[in-house]
Amino acid sequence: MAEFALDLNDEQKAVREWIHGFAADVMRPAAAEWDEREETPWPVIQEAAKIGLYSLDFYAQQFFDPTGLGIAMTMEELFWGDAGIGLSIVGTGLAAVGVLANGTEEQIGTWVPQMYGDANDVKVAAFCSSEPDAGSDVSAMRTRAVYDEAKDEWVLNGTKTWATNGGIANVHVVVAVVDPELGSKGHASFIVPPGTKGLSQGQKFKKHGIRASHTAEVVLEDVRIPGSCLLGGKDKLDERLARARERAKSGGERVKNAAMATFEASRPAVGAQAVGIARAAYEVALDYAKTRVQFGRPIIDNQGVAFQLADMRTQIDAARLLVWRASWMAASGKPFTAAEGSMSKLYAGEVAKTVTAQAMQILGGNGYTREYPVERMHRDAAIYTIFEGTSEIQRLVIARTLSGMPIR
Ligand SMILES: Cc1cc2nc3c(=O)[nH]c(=O)nc-3n(C[C@H](O)[C@H](O)[C@H](O)COP(=O)(O)OP(=O)(O)OC[C@H]3O[C@@H](n4cnc5c(N)ncnc54)[C@H](O)[C@@H]3O)c2cc1C
Repeated sequence: MAEFALDLNDEQKAVREWIHGFAADVMRPAAAEWDEREETPWPVIQEAAKIGLYSLDFYAQQFFDPTGLGIAMTMEELFWGDAGIGLSIVGTGLAAVGVLANGTEEQIGTWVPQMYGDANDVKVAAFCSSEPDAGSDVSAMRTRAVYDEAKDEWVLNGTKTWATNGGIANVHVVVAVVDPELGSKGHASFIVPPGTKGLSQGQKFKKHGIRASHTAEVVLEDVRIPGSCLLGGKDKLDERLARARERAKSGGERVKNAAMATFEASRPAVGAQAVGIARAAYEVALDYAKTRVQFGRPIIDNQGVAFQLADMRTQIDAARLLVWRASWMAASGKPFTAAEGSMSKLYAGEVAKTVTAQAMQILGGNGYTREYPVERMHRDAAIYTIFEGTSEIQRLVIARTLSGMPIR
């Protein structure tokens, strides 16, 4: 197990510099255009694929970095470049993690490479869990998966919403109800292979921010998939359901939810994205405050402006420390006894929202225009208190973990 360290090692520093170069030279110049177009920036993803920055190999390498900081550092640098394009590049990872967490080795080997495609033919993947009536309350999910034993096929029906890359993905990972009596314990995850009949894109959302990332409904109408597309396999599912039914019957003790443990480990990565956006806006504001002259002196000469910048930087560094702590804990297998993963996402998300608003204020009228990037960064940051668990849900998880009480 790696010791917690604040110094990146030489290899990490080199990787960070390489990502920073791509973020500064390729993502930044393209950011405003794709934000306006509200479309997936395929040419930028392709550029990333050409240099190996959009590839299964690269993310696997960072994912298995024993210090835990590989993914955090990657996310911060990419989202420093641009959040909308950044999400288009890393959105596939959410689906890939869904397969890595629940799939068999064979399923991982078959499907994860198809999620990325290759440099000449890039693909993306989508993770579809949220539904119109099941956002924060995952147990209200209605999409059904029914097993057709005669054909060894699963049949999926329902409507998913808010799916990043939904409908344009090569591979969709869909969470569905297999036993409605068991609430969230009766859910399972499925692969919907490329070109499967019955899966279609519903409404594509026009969003406030991260507009270069595609977000849409996914409609599933009698989608038939082979039995082998149930992640983890039927035997494992049957065992899990039997245990859950047994516990439900005996009114048994609450078991630790495996999905919750996965979220604790993945939330710091989302926190790191928020840190990247906050740092980008802070840097623009700092430069601006040193050069913009009013009343015969740079505006940073006013404590009112300088102290804001001091607070912004302090909060960004604090957010990064929480993200790195939780990332290191996940990689070292340390239990999240105070929901440290949720803490990092909560704090970093809130900091991104506050810091980007302060940056806009420091730029005055310019901050409010699309001539300067902080307006976009502010819109992009707003999602970080909403997706991957809202700030309220993070607080709920932290409070329940700390107290052991079923706080509602
Ligand atoms: C751009 C974008 C991309 C997304 N990508 C994906 C994706 O790829 N895959 C996917 O499955 N989902 C995705 N989501 C869905 C996202 O995770 C949900 O929007 C989020 O979980 C919140 O659900 P909701 O929107 O239904 O809000 P609701 O759950 O309806 O919440 C509304 C408000 O009520 C509050 N609230 C709800 N319950 C409580 C409570 N118990 N205590 C206190 N406050 C509460 C919430 O905090 C929030 O402020 C995405 C969403 C967006 C906007």
